[in-house]
Amino acid sequence: MDQRKSYYDIHKAVIVCDAHCDTVDRLMKDKTDLGTRSKNGHVDIPRLIEGGVDVQVFASYVGGSKKPKGYYFNLAKRKLDILRTQFAKNSKTISLALKLSDVQKANQSNKISAILAIEGGQSIENDINNLHIFYDLGVRIMTLTWKSTDWADASQQSMKHNGLTDLGKRVVKEMNKLNMIIDVSHSADKTVLDVLNASSDPVIASHSCARALCDHPRNLSDRLIKDIANAGGVICVNFYSLFLDQKFKTDTDKKLKPKPPSFTKIIDHIDHIVQVGGIDCVGLGSDFDGMDAPPSGLEDVTKMPKITSALLERGYLDEEVAQIMGGNFLRVFGQVCGI
Ligand SMILES: [Zn+2]
Repeated sequence: MDQRKSYYDIHKAVIVCDAHCDTVDRLMKDKTDLGTRSKNGHVDIPRLIEGGVDVQVFASYVGGSKKPKGYYFNLAKRKLDILRTQFAKNSKTISLALKLSDVQKANQSNKISAILAIEGGQSIENDINNLHIFYDLGVRIMTLTWKSTDWADASQQSMKHNGLTDLGKRVVKEMNKLNMIIDVSHSADKTVLDVLNASSDPVIASHSCARALCDHPRNLSDRLIKDIANAGGVICVNFYSLFLDQKFKTDTDKKLKPKPPSFTKIIDHIDHIVQVGGIDCVGLGSDFDGMDAPPSGLEDVTKMPKITSALLERGYLDEEVAQIMGGNFLRVFGQVCGI
């Protein structure tokens, strides 16, 4: 049997989802089109097709230091507008997905599905009504924090609110009502616990790894992995070497020149999350175009079939590979955003 053909056939057959990329920032910086193959960065339509990616979540990142009122709301709107313009320009190959059946339709006509996300709750400017504006613009996922907001603590900052404030809990409940997915990547541990208590829907961590394998505050403890899994949620493994590999992180901390690990570290994190939370709770969230050190062997999105190959080599069954590569993420997308 031709082993190589076999894994590639399986990769082509499953719906592959990447739950996080920051490609809009690269498009803005390079003044380039999503439909043009670029030598820079990690993601564009030709490379998504080559990598067999069927669903790409495009995050609009907002965050950072304090800015005048309206700044972050308008920045998010501008990035969403750029993405929507790119999807319209490339409508033969990509289409916006607002609910699960949109993904199924796009898949039948060989198109990539694009899901819009906002990374950073600063975007809503402490006004819950702004969530409705973003929902109407097609946003289906919001990462609550990048830096801490006035209502939620982020993972790499000192605690100000001990998790979520009352406004933070109202944001969570409003997102439940709106059918928008809550993303806890970048949130402080206590924020994640408060979100899980407040949310009636499953949540995702769109681009986070396991802290047991690489001790970084951006990664999830086993307890949080279990809690997210028990609530029906999904943890999508990040491809950034700093979150994947303890040695890369230690060398970075010591200001030594770190060497990216093999991409099989991604599979190690998948294995660990499956062991702790079960096969239903793991997915992929590359962080492509949002980081500068992918692991060796997974330099951009064209290399995604190697993950399918490595999972099969580790003994995962075809249906388990389908769950990890996208099925679990799509289950939550359908459950929260509608079928
Ligand atoms: Zn991020």
